[in-house]
Amino acid sequence: MRIMLSLGAIFFVACSAFGQLPATPQAPPKELPKLEHFNTTNVDAKAEPCDDFYKYVDATWLAAHPIPADHVFWGAVGPLELWNETLLVQTLEKNSADDPKRTSNEQKVGDYYFACMDTKAIDAHAADWLKPELQRIAAIKDKAGFAEEVAHLHQTIPGAWEGNDNETNAALFGFSGGPDFDDASHNVAEIDQGGMALPGRSFYLDDEAKAKEIRAKYLKHIANIFVLSGEKPEQAKADADVVLAMETDMAKAAMDPVTRRDPKNLNNKMSLAQLKALTPSFDWDLYFKLAKAPSTPHYIVTSPAFFKGLEVMLTEHSQEHWKTYLRWRMLHGNAPGLSEAFVKEDFDFFSHTLFGAQELQPRWRRCVRGTDRNLGEALGQVYVERAFPASSKQRVLQMVQDLQKVLGQDIEDASWMTPATKKQAQEKLRATLNKIGYPDKWRDYSSVSIGRSSYLLNRQHTAAFEFQRWVNKIGTPLDRTEWGMTPPTIDAYEDPQSNTVNFPAGILQPPFFDPQQDDAVNYGAIGAVIGHEIIHGFDDEGRKFDSKGNLRDWWTESDSKAYDERGKCISSQYTQEVPEAGPGVKQDGHLTQGEDTADNGGLRLALVALQSALARDGKSLNDKGPDGFTTLQRFFLAYAFAWCTQYRPEMIRTLVLTNPHSYPKYRVNNVVSNMPEFKQAFGCHNGQKMVHQDFCRIW
Ligand SMILES: [Zn+2]
Repeated sequence: MRIMLSLGAIFFVACSAFGQLPATPQAPPKELPKLEHFNTTNVDAKAEPCDDFYKYVDATWLAAHPIPADHVFWGAVGPLELWNETLLVQTLEKNSADDPKRTSNEQKVGDYYFACMDTKAIDAHAADWLKPELQRIAAIKDKAGFAEEVAHLHQTIPGAWEGNDNETNAALFGFSGGPDFDDASHNVAEIDQGGMALPGRSFYLDDEAKAKEIRAKYLKHIANIFVLSGEKPEQAKADADVVLAMETDMAKAAMDPVTRRDPKNLNNKMSLAQLKALTPSFDWDLYFKLAKAPSTPHYIVTSPAFFKGLEVMLTEHSQEHWKTYLRWRMLHGNAPGLSEAFVKEDFDFFSHTLFGAQELQPRWRRCVRGTDRNLGEALGQVYVERAFPASSKQRVLQMVQDLQKVLGQDIEDASWMTPATKKQAQEKLRATLNKIGYPDKWRDYSSVSIGRSSYLLNRQHTAAFEFQRWVNKIGTPLDRTEWGMTPPTIDAYEDPQSNTVNFPAGILQPPFFDPQQDDAVNYGAIGAVIGHEIIHGFDDEGRKFDSKGNLRDWWTESDSKAYDERGKCISSQYTQEVPEAGPGVKQDGHLTQGEDTADNGGLRLALVALQSALARDGKSLNDKGPDGFTTLQRFFLAYAFAWCTQYRPEMIRTLVLTNPHSYPKYRVNNVVSNMPEFKQAFGCHNGQKMVHQDFCRIW
């Protein structure tokens, strides 16, 4: 399990999509597309900034740029996504030629892409590839065979070992090495809940009409997948019922995402004997042996109730039911690597029904993303060479350090904190490791075998490599320099256990970071992103970890209380109806509290850092630019433009129910409404919507 508190700029959907609009070409463009740069011509002068700032800045652009049919969202970041992928595909097309002069990495990424694009071979051989997988499951006779298959799924399906709170991808449960909560300097074994294919447990348990409609479609989808694998329709329908019933049992036993946000609830240390007592019907010894798991002083079982529930299921469901479940997990996990019929069926439910995509994205884009996901640090090196000059790295690092200085001052000045807690907070801030763009040491993929003839096998080999890489961490010291995102990723994250902030080169591009623009724009856009990640170390979850990444309460009781009071202001502000997600859909401000705290604090840090940068150059926030806006106004405009994004209603609903990030409109409006500087910049009055009665503020 990884705790990665991300920015959530782009939500990669398993099979998201692209189509016929010029922005989403069916074939890779010959030239790099145009990037979107900040400019004020989109501002709607007739709209009232103090009533709806998001509308004032972004509505014109959004009206002119409808969501392409094969996308689930579109915004100012869309062109950057296409730009990054075009740059990558140029490399991949070059490397996919069967040239003996290729380096090992070039051969791997090139052949991975080649086999992924070879739909003729995939369609011709998918049934053959699937056969041994189905036979394995059919041959299961006992407890040992069951554990063996779970290990096999973890070793052959990308991400199937990864338990998670809002992307429950794991086949049955998650297993990997990860930092010990009490001593983050070394890794121990972690076992996490999983086993459900829908995006969150509420999808199984909610009773409202929309949830029921989605479950009915899910049942149909499972049955369709079984039919594609060779089952008779009657049997497939009955099997789908079994799968949904079993996943629903898992959802009932699973920990809810709000409870999971408190790391204390995850820190359940167990001996092997205790783990076995929790789920005695699962053959743990055999599973760990097959997973080649190093010995570990203890296991962290993030959700004991889930494994207790699993035990009940293991004793109550027949072996046939379990074989049906495993067959579903195997087919579901491999679907994107199989024939077009599987891919289409997978798209139809997981991208269309859950996220609203109208069309499947062109194959080349799916293959670029797949190569990035599975061989990311081999492919990412070229991206860095072509798209991320040393000057950008230097400038961004300087900004990160400047914003950290601002937070240091803010902690010093905080009237609600006692000196003892301030001292520890400063220590944590000083100990943060800043990682910009790409890793210093690239991952070694030499042990991964990639060929040109079987796409499914290539996927399985990269999955096995990744699983083993995570399992091998058990018993080793924590490596703080390792990255959890690939270089071209348009996102960023803070990791509280390694105490690092991480900014991939993919997001250090326009409209976020733009060397052509002035400080007002860069601090409003990438400055707010940087501030967001820095604040994560001090949000309601991050603050529970100390300078060394250990889960330790370093707050005095009165400071903790003062913090929670301030946090409540934020969580109640964001507990709100989200009409864009459909009637009655409500955001739970406790789920999004950490992200909202990071948004609010992040923009404030960026503003104070901007003031210092301006002072260094003898400039001021009140200077007027040629576009008629002041520097302070341009700062807020750039912030709102970076979040200029619209989602399909299905996607908004799915994310509001499961994702810890707020919808972009609220990431803009709720944040600026908490800032007296915004009120002043646009001359807003008390009583207007963009002026909160209480300015919520932690940092
Ligand atoms: Zn975040």
